[in-house]
Amino acid sequence: MSEFDKPLEECGIIGVFAPNEDVARMAFFGLYALQHRGQEAAGIAVSDGRTMRLHKEVGLVAQVFHPEHLAQLEGHYAIGHTRYSTTGSSNRRNAQPFMVETFHGPLAVAHNGNLVNASELRQQVLQRGVGLSSSSDSEVMTMMLAGAEGDTWEERIQNTMPYWHGAYSLVILTRSQVFAVRDPWGFRPLSVGRLPSGGHAAASETGALRTLGCDEIREVKPGEIVTLSNTVLRFRQGLPPQPNLARCIFEHIYFSRPDSFWDGLRVHQVRQRLGEELAREAPTEADVVVPVPDSSLPAAIGYARASGIPYNEGFTKNRYIARTFIQPTDSLRKQGIALKFNALEENLRGQRVIMIDDSIVRGNTAGPLVKLVRGAGAREVHVRITCPPIAHPCYMGVDMGTYDEMIAHKHTLDEIRDYIGADSLHFLSVEGMMRALGRREGYCNACFSGVYPIEIDRAHVKTGFEKAIAG
Ligand code: SF4
Repeated sequence: MSEFDKPLEECGIIGVFAPNEDVARMAFFGLYALQHRGQEAAGIAVSDGRTMRLHKEVGLVAQVFHPEHLAQLEGHYAIGHTRYSTTGSSNRRNAQPFMVETFHGPLAVAHNGNLVNASELRQQVLQRGVGLSSSSDSEVMTMMLAGAEGDTWEERIQNTMPYWHGAYSLVILTRSQVFAVRDPWGFRPLSVGRLPSGGHAAASETGALRTLGCDEIREVKPGEIVTLSNTVLRFRQGLPPQPNLARCIFEHIYFSRPDSFWDGLRVHQVRQRLGEELAREAPTEADVVVPVPDSSLPAAIGYARASGIPYNEGFTKNRYIARTFIQPTDSLRKQGIALKFNALEENLRGQRVIMIDDSIVRGNTAGPLVKLVRGAGAREVHVRITCPPIAHPCYMGVDMGTYDEMIAHKHTLDEIRDYIGADSLHFLSVEGMMRALGRREGYCNACFSGVYPIEIDRAHVKTGFEKAIAG
C-alpha cells in the first residue's frame, strides 16, 4: 500500500558482536536493510571494551552516517536503531540508541515497541530523582536498567523485565556485551544469527541478518535474554512466555520484508496465501489483477493464481521519494500519493480491474488510486484488501492513528466503498487471515477485533509523555 495511509512501524534494531571487525559498518548495513521500519532517525552505539561512542541524528540511515562518522565508531560491540516515532513526537532528542553512564559502566539501549504502562513508569523514575531528556518510553527503560539490582547485566535485565508491560524487542550494549531481549508476549520480531567471522548479530528481521551473511538464524523466544558472544550464544529465560502469545500480525501483512522469516513462516508466502484467501472470499468477474506496489505484490500473485484472472502491473511507483521529506501529517499524506504513483495506461484501459492493497487506515489514498485507475481508462475497479477493517488503535508500537482518524471505525463497508469510488470493496475476514497464516492463535489482532492481549490504559496516547512534560 502507499505509505501515506498505512500503519507505521516505529523501529528496526540491530546488534553485533564481532571482535576485530568493523562493527559500525556492519550495524550500518544492518540498519540499511531495516530502513523500511523507520525513516525519521537513525543511530549506532559502539563499544571497544573500554569506551562507548554514539552517533545519532534525524534522517535516513544514509543521511545520518557518512564514512567519517563510521570511522570514529571503532569497537567490537555495536547496536543500532532506525526510528519512526510512536511514543513522543518526531525529534532529535527521541532518536535512539539512548546512552548513559551507570555505576556499572556505560549502557546503551535500542528499542522496538511500546510499553502500555510507560506513563506510570516515567512518573516512578522521575519521583526517584532521575532526570530524563526525551519523551520516549525507551529512555525510561534505559534509566530503569541503569538503576536495576543485580550482580550481572543479565540479572539486571531479568530483574527489570517484570515492570515492563507491553511490546519490547531490545538490543542492549554494555562495555563488553551485547544482549537481545524480547517481551514475553512476543509482540515484535527479533532474531539472532551467526556471522561468517564467528561473531553473532541480532536484528528485527532475518532479512537484515542475511544481509550480514548470517547463518544458524533463530528467533529470540518470547521472554528470552540472549547474550551475544564470539563463540556461542547464551540463552536465559528472563520471564516465562505469556500463555496468550501476541505476535503482531501486521508484520506479515505489511511491515516485514517479504524475504524475512518469522514464526517459521516466510512473509512472502504468507502474503501470497492472503491473496488466495481473498480470491476465495470475494470472487469477482474481472480482466486483470493489479497490486498497489510494493507490499501487495505477492498477494496479487496469490489472488490471480486462485481466481485464474491474469496478473499485471497497474502502477509505476517512484521508490525514491523519502518520507523524511514528506512529514507524516494528513494534508501531506494526501498530496504525496500524486508524487508516488503513475498508472500504466496500456495495462488498464478498457479493463475490469481488481486492485489489491494490504490495508486501509484513514482511507485518504485508496480514493486517489482508484481515480488513477479510472483515469487510465479502466471500466470497473474492484478493491480487495488483504486484512480486515482496521477499527481500533494499536498501543503496542504501531501508529494506526486514533479512533477518529480510522475510516473503518466510523463508516460502513458501503460508505467506504462510495468514499473511495470503487465498484466493489472487500476486506479479508479474520478467519481468512488466520487460514493464510496456518495458525489459529499466538497472534495479536487487536486493531481489527478491539480485543487487546494486554490491559490497556486508554489515556495513554502517542504524545502523552510530552503532554506530561508540558503539563
Ligand atoms: Fe500489531 Fe495490530 Fe496488535 Fe498493534 S494491535 S500489535 S498493529 S496486530
